[in-house]
Amino acid sequence: MALLFKSDIDRPDSWIPALRTALPDMEVRKWPDVGDPAEIDYALVWQPPEGFLASLPNLKAILSIGAGIDHLTRDPKLPRHLPLVRMVEPGLTAGMTEFVVMQCLFHHRRMLDYRDQQQRKVWTEIPAVAAWQRRIGILGLGELGSDAVARLVHLRFDVAGWSRRRRALAGAACFAGSEELPSFLARSDILVCLLPLTEATDSLLNAELFAQLPRGACLINVGRGEHLVEEDLLAALDSGQIDAATLDVFRHEPLPDSSPLWSHPRVVVTPHIASMTIPETAAEAMAQAIRTLEAGGRPPGLVDLERGY
Ligand code: NDP
Repeated sequence: MALLFKSDIDRPDSWIPALRTALPDMEVRKWPDVGDPAEIDYALVWQPPEGFLASLPNLKAILSIGAGIDHLTRDPKLPRHLPLVRMVEPGLTAGMTEFVVMQCLFHHRRMLDYRDQQQRKVWTEIPAVAAWQRRIGILGLGELGSDAVARLVHLRFDVAGWSRRRRALAGAACFAGSEELPSFLARSDILVCLLPLTEATDSLLNAELFAQLPRGACLINVGRGEHLVEEDLLAALDSGQIDAATLDVFRHEPLPDSSPLWSHPRVVVTPHIASMTIPETAAEAMAQAIRTLEAGGRPPGLVDLERGY
């Protein structure tokens, strides 16, 4: 059996040895040295060229190096009949939780204001709010969202989450479906987007949604750039409806030099680094997924393409 690894951003010198260790009985090939395409059983990929996966005639399953699969579903020739497994692995989850907790604390403790004061050499206390008085709302309660909720609850924030189906998470209020979105938004002082990109979630972070948040709310977008209507955010920042934002993902990546987001005083920009797949733990997770598929089972992260995530 052979597995092909293809990514232009993940380091093959870490990945290939990790995959060989996790899959000792499998030949691991590195793009672009595909060899005979008919020999590839599994493809572990990030942003493969359009039509590439369809050119592997005996592929048994597609494995996504990222948690999101929008980099694959954009391909009109994606072999949709094959199992598609997205990345679910402890390193990725831990990294995202670190980032979300860090940014929630950053906004909760008014660090943008203190940075601004430092630049102006101003020594002034800004009135503090206790964590349990700060309401955090997490859009998306999947692998990543639910872990972030648990850590934020541990820090004693007043946490709520929103998902499609109703979830039950210890210490957090759970809202479900579009009918409960307004009540969820109305109690989100800090809103975190951890949704997958689907038809239903595309451009969800727009003017209409911002208007339903408490005035002066903060936004943290770590889902996908397409979730956010950037012009609507800029208008909400100008009006004060949104006080500050952390953006890790963008409609156009890298963020173009011309984007006003780069220099906006109330925006923190990071280059899609909220969380990275960790080769060692991820190779083990993918090896386990392959073993489960070979045994006819359903591995964690098996995508429902009809649902879109
Ligand atoms: P999951 O599939 O495990 O969870 C998705 C969650 O979103 C579920 O709770 C799901 O609801 C909810 N959801 C989906 N559609 C809707 C909808 N229409 N309305 C309400 N809720 C909805 O995904 P992960 O947690 O693993 O990952 C989430 C996303 O995070 C990824 O798709 C990716 O885009 C992004 N990401 C970003 C990274 C970065 O570095 N910036 C790194 C890794 C991931 P339900 O529970 O009912 O199914």
